Amino acid sequence: MAVNERQRIPGPVVFLDKDGTVIEDVPYNVDPRRIRLAPGAREAIRLLGEADATLVIATNQSGVARGYFTEEDLHTVGRHLGEVFGGLGARLAGFYFCPHVEPGDGVNGYAVICDCRKPEPGLVTAACRDLGLSLDRAWFVGDTWMDVVAGRRAGCRTIMVGPEARTADGLEQERRPDFAVDNLLLAAQIILADHTGSGRSDESAIGESRREPVEAVR
Ligand SMILES: [Mg+2]
Ligand SMILES: [Zn+2]
Repeated sequence: MAVNERQRIPGPVVFLDKDGTVIEDVPYNVDPRRIRLAPGAREAIRLLGEADATLVIATNQSGVARGYFTEEDLHTVGRHLGEVFGGLGARLAGFYFCPHVEPGDGVNGYAVICDCRKPEPGLVTAACRDLGLSLDRAWFVGDTWMDVVAGRRAGCRTIMVGPEARTADGLEQERRPDFAVDNLLLAAQIILADHTGSGRSDESAIGESRREPVEAVR
């Protein structure tokens, strides 16, 4: 081991909701040609990639249980997003989806009670187990309270983005995120400022990160 090399700070672990967080929400879409990054997502992914972040998507995809598309269609979406992330210098370490829905809402064997449909934390815990990730200082970013609850139950700090984030302080305690901001770029800046701050004693490393719109609501 090269002991006199400056020790590299491992990047942050960030779980990301897909629809309305990383990409624009087109309900039940699995066509890569109709996938567009959400506002701020391009730069966010680039910055997180630069910081060597471990990025994992965790998404509810009840369209499988509803018979709209198949797990294979979702693997295609996952591969496409992996290429998009790669093109921005980031690595999508995992693409985890819940294909289930409550019995009665679905049309096939996926219509079951499960432990992975957010707000349950099963997608996060499965990713941690598969990828050997530590939840210590991990984050979950999503655009609904279900993301917040799933992330928190798994042990992550949470950031809400998108329109619902504007009224996050009106949510009941359990559903309230640690931070609420407009988009994924602002979320990435919070994560990276925290990460830089935790890895160095130099507080000025936080630099010009835009913290004004950040609302700590817990
Ligand atoms: Mg969403
Ligand atoms: Zn599930």
